Amino acid sequence: MDQPTTPHKPKILIVDDIPVNIQLLQNYLGSGGYQTVTASNGEEALARVKETRPDMVLLDVMMPKLDGFETCRMLKKNEDTSYIPVIMVTALNELEDKIKGIEAGADDFISKPFNRLELLARVKSLLRVKFLHDQLQEKVTQLELAKERLREMAVTDGLTQLYNYRYFREYLDQEIRRAARHHFFVSLVMVDIDFFKHYNDQHGHPAGDQVLRGIAKLMRDNIRSIDVAVRYGGEEFVMVLPETNRSQACVVAEKIRRMVEKQRFPHEEQQPNGNLTISVGLAVFPEDATEGEELIKKADLRLYIAKGQGRNKVVSQ
Ligand code: GH3
Ligand code: MG
Ligand code: MG
Repeated sequence: MDQPTTPHKPKILIVDDIPVNIQLLQNYLGSGGYQTVTASNGEEALARVKETRPDMVLLDVMMPKLDGFETCRMLKKNEDTSYIPVIMVTALNELEDKIKGIEAGADDFISKPFNRLELLARVKSLLRVKFLHDQLQEKVTQLELAKERLREMAVTDGLTQLYNYRYFREYLDQEIRRAARHHFFVSLVMVDIDFFKHYNDQHGHPAGDQVLRGIAKLMRDNIRSIDVAVRYGGEEFVMVLPETNRSQACVVAEKIRRMVEKQRFPHEEQQPNGNLTISVGLAVFPEDATEGEELIKKADLRLYIAKGQGRNKVVSQ
């Protein structure tokens, strides 16, 4: 595998209660090309880790109050900081300290008096692991974002950016179940563009697509955030309006119908009725149907009644 590249000058937090030790470690690490930050006790170290996000911590064992072991344990216990490598600074050959350090989660040890080359070698090797971890973490984040995007795409219609049929069917059933539990109404509004074949035949598919986008936007911009607008099929749309009764749904449907009627689409004067319009059928749970498929059928039936009555109409019962 390639050597991981260092995205920045690695930053090392030195924690020691004795200033000359800090000074010495700063000099050694500085000579190795590292940035350093310092803390003189355990509490300060935890605060510094939070604010400076170091790539590694060099932690003295012997400190007043919160000692090195306890500080290490706290860093390793917290999932925001557990991945930061910790090198514990022990007295020479203190086996007991090393065992306690391992138990506290330390990643490596260095003994006083320090050997500069040994220190730099240990730091370098642990940083390699840290950067591999960082790269992996970044990949995981990218993957999560890609998964989220895929989930969105799976329920979105590419042309209009409305929800698609698959999402609609699940959502409708779910809203009906919820409405049944809470004794709410759910209104289903079904929309079909009038003489759309004519429009496509006269002005081409791309012009037709622009109309579909325009009507989708009118719907999306004029419903509440809990309502859902869907591209049901080619030139048909539905809106699901939870907690909405028939007269309230009529107001929404009528408003959208009027907005499409008013909106100026290119070449619409050449439509058979001189305008680009929609017909609308609506049905209401639980009055018209008690389950999704039946509710859709009822709304569809009324939509075709609207077509029969001359189009550019809402039929609600
Ligand atoms: P009606 O008033 O009875 O609804 O007549 P209509 O012409 O709209 O109905 P019909 O169902 O016969 O035609 C629907 C047309 O919608 C057929 C096709 O040209 C067009 N259409 C369907 N999907 C798309 C699409 O994704 N893009 C475009 N541009 N047109 C589409
Ligand atoms: Mg149609
Ligand atoms: Mg149509």
